[in-house]
Amino acid sequence: MTAGGRRRGVRRGAGHGRRPGPGRSRPAEGRPSQRMPQPDPAEVLVVGGGAAGSLAAIAAAEAGARVLLLEKMPRLGSKLLMSGKGRCNLTNRAPLDEFIAAFGETGSLLRNVFHRFFVDDLCRFFEAQDLSLKTERGGRVFPESGEAAAVVDVLMRELDRCGVMVRPASAVEAVLIQGGAVRGVALLRRDPVARGQGAPGARAAPAGAGGRAQEVQPTIPAPPTIPARAVVLATGGASYPQTGSSGDGYRIAEALGHRIIPPRPALVPLVLAEPIPREWRQVTLRHVRVTLLADGGTLDERFGEAFFVRDGIAGPAVLPLSRRAGAALEAGRRVEIILNLKPALSAEKLDARLQREFAAHGQPGSPWAILKQLLPLKLIAAMLVQWGIDPQMRGSEISREQRRRLRELLQSLRFQVRGLRPLAEAIITAGGVATNEVDPRTLASRHVAGLFLAGELLDIDAETGGYNLQAAFSTGWVAGRAAAEHVTARGSQT
Ligand SMILES: Cc1cc2nc3c(=O)[nH]c(=O)nc-3n(C[C@H](O)[C@H](O)[C@H](O)COP(=O)(O)OP(=O)(O)OC[C@H]3O[C@@H](n4cnc5c(N)ncnc54)[C@H](O)[C@@H]3O)c2cc1C
Repeated sequence: MTAGGRRRGVRRGAGHGRRPGPGRSRPAEGRPSQRMPQPDPAEVLVVGGGAAGSLAAIAAAEAGARVLLLEKMPRLGSKLLMSGKGRCNLTNRAPLDEFIAAFGETGSLLRNVFHRFFVDDLCRFFEAQDLSLKTERGGRVFPESGEAAAVVDVLMRELDRCGVMVRPASAVEAVLIQGGAVRGVALLRRDPVARGQGAPGARAAPAGAGGRAQEVQPTIPAPPTIPARAVVLATGGASYPQTGSSGDGYRIAEALGHRIIPPRPALVPLVLAEPIPREWRQVTLRHVRVTLLADGGTLDERFGEAFFVRDGIAGPAVLPLSRRAGAALEAGRRVEIILNLKPALSAEKLDARLQREFAAHGQPGSPWAILKQLLPLKLIAAMLVQWGIDPQMRGSEISREQRRRLRELLQSLRFQVRGLRPLAEAIITAGGVATNEVDPRTLASRHVAGLFLAGELLDIDAETGGYNLQAAFSTGWVAGRAAAEHVTARGSQT
């Protein structure tokens, strides 16, 4: 299967009865006029306007379904906007097996999904919309502009082009079922549109030149329930709830009979037992090695950047350790991390380097001058305290034992891990809808006909590097396409 981006120009609306079959494109009809009215009720409802929901809506509309996208927040893509520190690490160029391995044991569902929509498909989708991409260290793919907003703009434009109706500020409370099949959704009562505060006629605002996600005006009258024959649930996880993903989907799916693997933080800072000197919080440690230990044995090890936060440590080299750290803490084990600030040097080479530095610094006050050669300035004062040395010493006066102690501090700085920061601060939520309860080829619920599940809501989570967004886009695309096929198949039967 190929990316939706190759099926451009497909427009639903009038002539809806004749839809392109799976894998077949309609001939391009040219760029459609903006926002044609959509008189008929939606066939597919997509709940959640993040990465997964947006692509689901686009894929379903391109396959010929009438689609309404319901988003709880006033705008789409809030989490996408903050992804990759505002640069949005869209995906990763790792080969398929390596890619799936980044999800650990939660990755098995994805083999089928990635077979249908993977990295090349996603890149083609964005590049077809004139979004240039670049690949950085570790195969990480970003928009060339370095702006996550450009990604959201493309999604908004495509939703508009495909004729997807978008209704923001519309929180779904439940999926309605009858006879084991989807009948629609119920909106949360405090939905302002449902309370009659919106004006008639919903539409997706086009992306503007400002490069930000656009406010989308809620404008159709909204009954508290919306009928449809298929629902794609793409409400995200429960981390960073200010973006709208606050775990609603777990409650909705559970009420439909789905098993929820308890949500827990993944890719989250570690809380340390030791107090962190204030100045240390202003330093990014580059090219360091972080080793995670449980009861003294090595569990995992990462290389890269780390930085201290108020009560702990974060950064790309630390976050991937959090899953194992959490499990070890839960098992009651003593968890520690060791920071190697000079991982490129063997112990012997570092020792030789220290001896050279000590010989070169013959003046009183040498410890400070020596550490200045080895560490970021802001680490030095606290490190001198840890070293326990008289700061007025000359290099030649430093003993072998004091040299050994410094070597240890530089290569084996040890901290005890007391816990993890809370789920709200996690980059990703581990846990979610059990993946053995969805069909891996379509992401259809095994409990409710016409229900499809996508994105972080599912029990899938990976390391940093663009894997999570690719999973959200891919599952969204597969679920959206399958939802369209579901309503098409049912439509042709009746
Ligand atoms: C700070 C940060 C940085 C990140 N950076 C990266 C990165 O660079 N690369 C990467 O691969 N991953 C990154 N991630 C992870 C990635 O952003 C997520 O895994 C991905 O966005 C999940 O997409 P989703 O569509 O499943 O969920 P979300 O993006 O969370 O979207 C879910 C949507 O559903 C809506 N919703 C929720 N409940 C309801 C309801 N009841 N009714 C209607 N709508 C509802 C929400 O408002 C939200 O808009 C980052 C995450 C964070 C927090």
